[in-house]
Amino acid sequence: MRIKFPVSVLAAGLLIVLSCGESPVDSAGNPTPSVLAIQLQSDSVVYTSWTQCSDEDFNAYILWRSQSAGIQADPSQAQALKIFSGDPLQNTWFDADVTPGDTYWYALETRNTSLLSAWSNELSLTIPLNEPDNLTVFFIDPSHGSLSGDAMLIRTPGGFNYLIDGGDRRSDWSCGRDRILPMLDSLGITRLDGIVGTHPHSDHIGGLIAILEEMPVDKVWDCGWTGDASNTYEEFLQEVQNSGAEYIEGTRGMTLDWDPNLQVEILHPEAHPGSGDMNNASILIHITFEEVSFLFTGDLETDDGEDDVLAHYSPEDLRADVLKVGHHGSGDATGNLWLDAVQPSYAAIEVGSGNPYGHPHSELLNRLDSRGIPVFRTDQDGTFIITTDGTDITVF
Ligand SMILES: [Zn+2]
Repeated sequence: MRIKFPVSVLAAGLLIVLSCGESPVDSAGNPTPSVLAIQLQSDSVVYTSWTQCSDEDFNAYILWRSQSAGIQADPSQAQALKIFSGDPLQNTWFDADVTPGDTYWYALETRNTSLLSAWSNELSLTIPLNEPDNLTVFFIDPSHGSLSGDAMLIRTPGGFNYLIDGGDRRSDWSCGRDRILPMLDSLGITRLDGIVGTHPHSDHIGGLIAILEEMPVDKVWDCGWTGDASNTYEEFLQEVQNSGAEYIEGTRGMTLDWDPNLQVEILHPEAHPGSGDMNNASILIHITFEEVSFLFTGDLETDDGEDDVLAHYSPEDLRADVLKVGHHGSGDATGNLWLDAVQPSYAAIEVGSGNPYGHPHSELLNRLDSRGIPVFRTDQDGTFIITTDGTDITVF
C-alpha cells in the first residue's frame, strides 16, 4: 500500500497558519480573503475548500466557476456556483456538475456586511475522461457552536451511498438538514442505500432524523439498544418507521451486502445491548476494498468496549489502514492494545471545534503521535476525504 499526499493537503497545512482573520479588517474595510484549494475527487467530482473567514462583519462566501481564466477581472463570464450566507464555518463544497474533458476555473469571493468584496486565489482543473471507481469516505465536519458528533458518507466503488451517523441537532440547526443534505445535493445523491446509527446518543443520530424525513433511505442499521434512552432516540426510531426504510439490528458477525467490491462486517455489539455505557453499544464496521481497510468505531471506549472486541477477534481481523478514532478522540478510547491490533496508517477524528469536552484529548493525540500515525480531524481540517482505489490511499 502506498500513501499519497496531494499538494493541496500540504498547501492547506501551510495555509492554516495564514488563515484569514488574524487582522480582522484591513485598513480599507475590505473583508479578509480566503485561500482556495481544489481537488478532483473520484468519479468526476471537484472538491473545493477554503480557509475560514473570522472577520466580525462577515456576510457571505460566493463560489465562482468559469470555463476561462480571470474570474475576478470579469465575474460576468463566470457562474456563481453557490452562495453561502451567514456561516463562516461553511468552507467546503462539492461540484459534481462537471463534464469529463472540460477545464474549470474556480475563485471564491468573500463579502462583508458593507458588501465590500475580497477575492481568493484562482485555480483551475481539467476533469479526466476516465476516473477509477474508488471507495471514498467523507469525514463530515459536525461543528456548530458547541455541537460535536460523528457523520461520515461512504461512496462505494459500485456507486452506492451510505451514511454512518449524522451529527447532532438543536432547535435551529441540524447537521443532517443544514450540512449533510446540501453536501449530498452537491454530489448529485438523491437517495441513500443505507444509514447506520451507531448508538442512541444525539450527536450521532440527531442529524439523521432530518435525513430520514427528507431523503429516501433503503435500510437503517441500529444497535438495538434496550435500556433507557432519550426522546431523540425514540424520535429517530419513529422516523425510521415513518420513512419506510428497512430496520435492521446490527450485531456482531453480520456481513453487510453494501457492494460486491467490498467486504463489510459488523464486529460489535452483541444483540440487544441495554446496560452499561451506551457508548459501548456502538456498532463497529470494518470495510475492506482489495488491499485497503477502514474501521469505524462510533464512540467505543477502551473499558468494556475495545477490550470486549479484542477478546472476540484476532488482531488480523481488526487491522485497518484507516481508523475512525473512537469517541471523538477521548482519552478513554483508542487504547494502546487497540492500536497494537489495528495498526492504522491514518487516524481520522470526528469532533466539533467548539465541543465542551476538550476532545480530542492530549493523551490520545500523544498515543497516536508516538506511533507516527498521521491524524486528520474535523475540528481543524473541516470536512476531509479519504479515498482509495484499493491500493493507494489519498487524503484531501
Ligand atoms: Zn459521540
